[in-house]
Amino acid sequence: MKVTIPNLGNLASIAGKSLLSNLGHEVILPPSNTKRTLDLGVRYAPEYCCLPLKIVLGNFIEALEKGADTIIMVGGWGPCRFGYYAEIQRMILKSLGYKFEMIVLEVPRGNLIRILRYVNLLRNKQSLSSLINAGEIAWSKVVAIEELEKEALRIRPRENIKGETSRILKKGLSLIDNTNSIGEIERIKQQIIDDFNKIKVKKNKELIKVKLVGEFYVALEPFVNHNIEEKLGYLGVEVERGVSIKPWITSVFSLNFLKVGYQKEKNPIEKAANPYLPQSVGGEGQPTVGNVVLASEKGFDGAIQVVPFTCMPEIVAETVNKKVSEDLDFPVLTLIFDEQTGEEGLNTRLEAFIDLLKSKKYDRHLTARRLAS
Ligand code: SF4
Repeated sequence: MKVTIPNLGNLASIAGKSLLSNLGHEVILPPSNTKRTLDLGVRYAPEYCCLPLKIVLGNFIEALEKGADTIIMVGGWGPCRFGYYAEIQRMILKSLGYKFEMIVLEVPRGNLIRILRYVNLLRNKQSLSSLINAGEIAWSKVVAIEELEKEALRIRPRENIKGETSRILKKGLSLIDNTNSIGEIERIKQQIIDDFNKIKVKKNKELIKVKLVGEFYVALEPFVNHNIEEKLGYLGVEVERGVSIKPWITSVFSLNFLKVGYQKEKNPIEKAANPYLPQSVGGEGQPTVGNVVLASEKGFDGAIQVVPFTCMPEIVAETVNKKVSEDLDFPVLTLIFDEQTGEEGLNTRLEAFIDLLKSKKYDRHLTARRLAS
């Protein structure tokens, strides 16, 4: 079996690859996302499909061209179209003449038989302890990657020499990719954090702080969001992500449903969204609203919502966020990404939004000073 998975920032190409190769699968990753990936997806996917489907379709075509014969894709449920995507991609690829197997990992949602079937498929005839070991290594990589990326978001807007944070992060990610020991992953993570802390930073720089919210794939895949986190860092903005893969993995593999009388409680983000959007609308729609509310309470200067064109959950969240923004006097910029999104237009909108946040912050300082005197 020559297995492939879609790109998703550094997570799939490092942690996903690690899990599968440690279970003895031959892993053929798609090349990093490029304009060709996007063009392939746009050419063969129906026009109305959202951007993630198109890019992932492009990934699969490029991986099949490299010799992959088995595709692993995740499934979904609920009001968003994600649940149909694997099937649409399978039909398109078959109609193009590719020969492959597609394994769709549906979210188990308490279905023990489904969990056992996936465990069996993934473990590739290896022992259960090998599966656990491979899972632990991959999980350590996920945690380390997300922690280092988070730290880089904090340091980048403060760095004296442009690009130093990204250079150190890249080195750390490459070291994590090349190790297979949990102790070593932890050591590398600490070493990279130490290296970050040695970066010379600008003194007394008062930064704008922004929460990045929105659809999972667009928020986490730099090619699709035009490297928005780095762009903002270089504009002197400290970004905090509202999207992370860790809670998603935890909820998928949680065995809480086995507990008698178990009822899922709302998490703090859902609770914050509750007055505006009390129920899930699929995807990250509800967390997007909850994260905006929390960001305003925690003293952020604004939020940026990233949305793939035609994404229903994020369109709902965008409409709700207008009310949130008005009620809380909290600026939210919504950026919609599709195959037409251009670099210049995006830069202009980001710069204008950051200028607005700076002037609001300045006004707040003036008012505070006046009240104090
Ligand atoms: S969340 Fe949005 S972009 Fe993602 S699959 Fe659903 S509709 Fe498409």
